Amino acid sequence: MKPYTKRKKFIMPFSGDELDHAETQRATEQLEIFIKQDNAKCLCLYKGSIAINGNGNLSLVHPSKLIGKKINDPGPIFLGLSNNIPLFSVSLVEPDEIKEDLIFEDLRKASKFLSPQEMSVAGRAKSLLDWHLNNRFCSKCGQMTQPSSGGIKRECNSCSSEHFPRVNPVVIMLIISNNKVLLGRGKGWPEGAMSALAGFISPGETIEEAVKRETYEEVGIKIKNAQYVFSQPWPWPSQLMIGMVCEADNEDLNINTDEIEEAKWFTKDQVKAVYDNSGDHFLKLPKFTIAHHLLRNWIES
Ligand SMILES: [Zn+2]
Repeated sequence: MKPYTKRKKFIMPFSGDELDHAETQRATEQLEIFIKQDNAKCLCLYKGSIAINGNGNLSLVHPSKLIGKKINDPGPIFLGLSNNIPLFSVSLVEPDEIKEDLIFEDLRKASKFLSPQEMSVAGRAKSLLDWHLNNRFCSKCGQMTQPSSGGIKRECNSCSSEHFPRVNPVVIMLIISNNKVLLGRGKGWPEGAMSALAGFISPGETIEEAVKRETYEEVGIKIKNAQYVFSQPWPWPSQLMIGMVCEADNEDLNINTDEIEEAKWFTKDQVKAVYDNSGDHFLKLPKFTIAHHLLRNWIES
């Protein structure tokens, strides 16, 4: 298989914000200066939904609006500097804690109108806040941990351990054979919804080995020539989707129904036809998914 080409002028949803994470400017004193700056902004979340305004953009408020409000652990986190604007995020206890033009919208639904960069900021905020919510206790000694350095880690005062947010790598692959692609439907997915096969990378294996293993486990096919295409941060709760393409040795499926409901081969023309008539969806794949972009890349290559 020749080296895989990628579309140009394309920003993957949940990426491209070019936020400066300001790793060296996270001392408490510096963060206190940042949060009081006139140009400081804060993105509010409520139960994982994000604040948007009536124009369909992220709604950002000055952090001073949060004084006296009930905010979940870890309090305001510092996302970084966006064109020198200090950008914070909080998880509100109640949606009406701030009397502003805030509408809380599920991030999947908001992806229909937010830019890839806005989704990136919202995704970073959501992943970090989710991590704090689920990692309040020390995994070494069991004591309560404290957020530190503007929310990019937690520290245990009892055993002095430091804990950092985890990103979980997942391979997602287009399996190609004779100008056809293999797509599958996960358990519990709506009828007709098909996507690229995917799975978590297991300890002790490379990306290519994970593609091989997952493909064999799910559909009983051996593959070769696994190649990286592009990746996507995925904030449910914090995955890195590693988009791959590979060649199947044969097309005889032996589907593991414990893992997936069905899997089928689709010709490039079939996929193109669905794509042309799809409107907002492609094989019922939302446009913000890496699977959508892998398939689009394939039919345009
Ligand atoms: Zn501890």
